[in-house]
Amino acid sequence: MRVGVGYDVHAFGEGRRLVLGGVHIPYGKGLVGHSDADVVVHALTDALLGAAALGDLGTHFPDTDPRWKDLDSLEFLRGAVRLLTERGYRVVNADVTVIAQAPRLASHVLRMRQVLAPILNVDVDAVSVKATTPEGLGALGRGAGVAAFAVACIEVAHARSAPGA
Ligand code: MG
Repeated sequence: MRVGVGYDVHAFGEGRRLVLGGVHIPYGKGLVGHSDADVVVHALTDALLGAAALGDLGTHFPDTDPRWKDLDSLEFLRGAVRLLTERGYRVVNADVTVIAQAPRLASHVLRMRQVLAPILNVDVDAVSVKATTPEGLGALGRGAGVAAFAVACIEVAHARSAPGA
C-alpha cells in the first residue's frame, strides 16, 4: 500500500464558472487557470500521482499545452488513474479538504464524491470531500481563491511486470 499527498490553490476571477470536484457550483465568479482550475480535482490528481511517485499534474499535463486549455479537469484525474492502472495499482481511498471562505460548499460535497468515485473505480464511501473555511484569515479568508489538500491510498492490484519491463 502507498499513500500520496496533493495540494492546489487557484484565485477567483470574473467571467469563469466555478467547478469543484467536477461539480458546477452556482457562484458569481470562478477560479482562474489554464484548465477549469478545479482545485479539488487537481489536488486529488497530484495525490494519486504522488502515491505512485509518478511526478505531478504539471509533469503530465503542462499548462503550456493548448490541449489542456479550459479542459474539464476530470480528464486529468482519468489520466492519472489510467497511469496507475497501467502500473498495476488501484485506488483504495481518497480524502480531500477544500478550503473556501465562500461559497459554502457543504451541500455540494456529496455530489462531488458521486462524480469522483466512478473515475477512481471505488465506492462513494471510499472518497471523502470535506469543506472548511479559513475563518477569515489571510488571502483565502478574504475570498481571493480556493485551496484544497488531498491524500490518496493506492495498492498493487495484481502482480507487477518485471523491473524495467
Ligand atoms: Mg491547479
